[in-house]
Amino acid sequence: MTPKPIGPIPPEFAGLDALPWLDAATPAYVYDFAIVAARIARLRAALPGQVAVHYAIKANPLPALLERIAPLVDGLDVASAGELDKALGVMAASAVSFAGPGKRDFELEAAIAAGATLNLESEGEAARALAIGERLGVTPRLAVRVNPDFELRGSGMKMGGRASPFGVDVARVPRLVQQICASGADWQGFHIFSGSQSLDTEAIIQTQAATIALAETLAEQAGWMPPRVNLGGGFGIPYFAGDTPIDVEAIGAALGTAIHASFLTLTKVEWAIELGRWLVGEAGVYLARVIDRKESQGETFLVVDGGLNHHLAATGNFGTVVRRNYPVALAHRMQAPAEEVVNIVGPLCTPLDRLADRVALPRAEVGDVVAIFASGAYGASASPSAFLGHPPVHEILQS
Ligand SMILES: *Cc1c(COP(=O)(O)O)cnc(C)c1O
Repeated sequence: MTPKPIGPIPPEFAGLDALPWLDAATPAYVYDFAIVAARIARLRAALPGQVAVHYAIKANPLPALLERIAPLVDGLDVASAGELDKALGVMAASAVSFAGPGKRDFELEAAIAAGATLNLESEGEAARALAIGERLGVTPRLAVRVNPDFELRGSGMKMGGRASPFGVDVARVPRLVQQICASGADWQGFHIFSGSQSLDTEAIIQTQAATIALAETLAEQAGWMPPRVNLGGGFGIPYFAGDTPIDVEAIGAALGTAIHASFLTLTKVEWAIELGRWLVGEAGVYLARVIDRKESQGETFLVVDGGLNHHLAATGNFGTVVRRNYPVALAHRMQAPAEEVVNIVGPLCTPLDRLADRVALPRAEVGDVVAIFASGAYGASASPSAFLGHPPVHEILQS
């Protein structure tokens, strides 16, 4: 049977004969913090010095991980009161910003009382935030999230250039900024996020330039200079066969040129980018143990002790149109030659629970551990762990 391709194993793991976590209780996510720290250091070296680095915690909100990341970044971006609580435990409120549609009053209140910045998604939300600030006697820190009139090309999840629950349409932004400033609120500037999971370096460069130009136009139209401009992120990581990494050094160099040319730089604007996946995604490995080997109609199935309930994305059910294979290997025989073509399925009673489809691997026996790479972002917290009532996944932070 012809195997289907798998995605590229991240370079930090690709040369190993075996993963160091063979004795870990499964099913488990293991996150290698040294890889995260190296990512942050590489990003810092690539970016112009005046660009703040934020971590978008929805990519991986594990508290132990947040605690280690917080001292290495300049800010945390959150998208719910639950994430806000976690962020405030490890970061000063002035470095926490809260985006996301449908913020309820208790969420607005929590952010305003703490002194976190709200990235406003609509005029209605702005009015509620101002009223809550008045009631609390606290000056709210308010940024306006813009629904940009362009989108990040090559982006897995597009968030601009169309009708959107996210952000305020460009044409209405200047007036909203004027209202916020007139109200006496502490206007924090713009938040412009135009997509996620782009592997197109040139598209990221162009989008950043367009984002700076948009911030300039909006500032001029509003007649107020933004204290901060959050340029979004969208840096993707390779998941599937043929995917190649982005060139962060080229992005940083181009951003430096664009920032240098912007009149906003003269106004001492604080630039920021916010990344989730690129910082943590390749640092995580999902480990599941083979419970059963079975044959059916000429195909071999490795049934493992976790699947869609822990790792929805690897089964192709989280924002992908066509199901493709994540990078996968046998954890104790990474370099061994392939001997058979197998399907790796989880224990759930649904055909959606397939972690790998017709992949070529060395022979695996019951008790062996299968590793799914590129699993550090949108894994445990983005999967339906209650579905079918299996035990929760272990999450282990290493190094
Ligand atoms: C999800 C999200 C991010 C993080 O996206 P990644 O693809 O994980 O980098 C950043 N900013 C906003 C507003 C988001 O919604």
